[in-house]
Amino acid sequence: MNISILSIGDELLAGDTINTNSSWISRKSTQIGCNVSRQITCKDQKEEIFQALNYLNESQPEYIVITGGLGPTDDDITRKTLFEYFKVKEIFDEDYWQKLKRRFHKLGIEIVESNKSQAIKPSMGETIANPIGSARGYSFLKNNTNYFSLPGVPYEMKSMMTQTILPQFEKNIKSPIFREIIRTTGVVESSLAENISKITKTKHECKVGYYPSLHGVDIRISSISAKKVDHLFIALKNFLGDTTYTDKKNNMEEIIVKNLSRLRKTIAIAESCTGGLIGDRITNVPGASEVFKGGVITYSNRSKQEILGVASDLLKRYGAVSEKVAMKMSYGIMKKFNSDYGLSVTGIAGPDGGSIEKPVGTVFISLSNQETTKVEKFMFGKDREKNKIKTSQAALNMVRISL
Ligand code: ATP
Repeated sequence: MNISILSIGDELLAGDTINTNSSWISRKSTQIGCNVSRQITCKDQKEEIFQALNYLNESQPEYIVITGGLGPTDDDITRKTLFEYFKVKEIFDEDYWQKLKRRFHKLGIEIVESNKSQAIKPSMGETIANPIGSARGYSFLKNNTNYFSLPGVPYEMKSMMTQTILPQFEKNIKSPIFREIIRTTGVVESSLAENISKITKTKHECKVGYYPSLHGVDIRISSISAKKVDHLFIALKNFLGDTTYTDKKNNMEEIIVKNLSRLRKTIAIAESCTGGLIGDRITNVPGASEVFKGGVITYSNRSKQEILGVASDLLKRYGAVSEKVAMKMSYGIMKKFNSDYGLSVTGIAGPDGGSIEKPVGTVFISLSNQETTKVEKFMFGKDREKNKIKTSQAALNMVRISL
């Protein structure tokens, strides 16, 4: 079943507001097996809206979801424009107006004349209930395409989609699209595609997409055949082994917290070049307090010595960004917090500060437990922010593999 989305709003085109509505609608619709065929953003302008609707019509989707511009202010022209587009008349809904007045009164808000526009309904078509706001939505039917117009306010749109529209999609879906995701880390997109080409090049009739980010590469498989998706998914997962960190939507930190919690183990973290990012990621996960004992940002040599017990001659001889220092840091933090694991990172995030021997992007990550300490060297790029993110992901991945 094909869906198209039209986002209306000057602020979206100006870049003042990020269009989270269309990504949310797309995600929710694809999750239940719909295919989003087109997305378009246009200005609060009649001709632009007309053109956008005509364009979306071309692919003959079963549904078109429109968001934005339903409010009571002058710049909200969606209702008027749609009524003209569908050639329907405005009917003043006295019952709804009285309801609106009662609602505003209860909330202690003065209702003004311009709110009357929100009590208007189409002579042909329906209104869509808005459980948490005053602007109702509208639905129209034209040439076998259903149009839903919803307010732009994200939480109102979401509530109306969830309550009214997504259930309708679900009910009417005839041949859903089945999807699986495999999230990988540590291998770049081109190598990953090359590595798995033996499997992806065999006849499987599934669509395979690669989605790289600083956290790794997500592989998405989709097809109208659940069996075919399943088959390819299992083959790829078996082949990829440890490169895959999850086949669900969750992220690395959620997996770490879940696994530590399952094993009843704790961790403490000493960060240098990531400046607390790993701790931040871990503490974003509900339930982290069960497994995360704490962390320190030992950015200077002195703090590495005083807090983690890294010997000064080790720092002098090998430098703060070294295998030996990383190992001492992870051991030191484990002892300091009396945790089961100690994780440490030290590196040159850039853009300056590298040397021939240790160029910008050199990072050492070390993981200690009561028996042993394991250290790995990574070479990232020249971008400071990217290096921090990549380091945090590699460090968490090291914990995952060890668990
Ligand atoms: P209201 O009744 O509040 O006026 P509306 O339907 O007129 O609702 P807009 O005026 O277009 O909606 O937008 C209301 C708010 O929602 C604005 O802050 C706007 O930036 C935001 N918004 C609109 N469209 C989107 C979108 N596609 N993604 C994210 N936010 C959006």
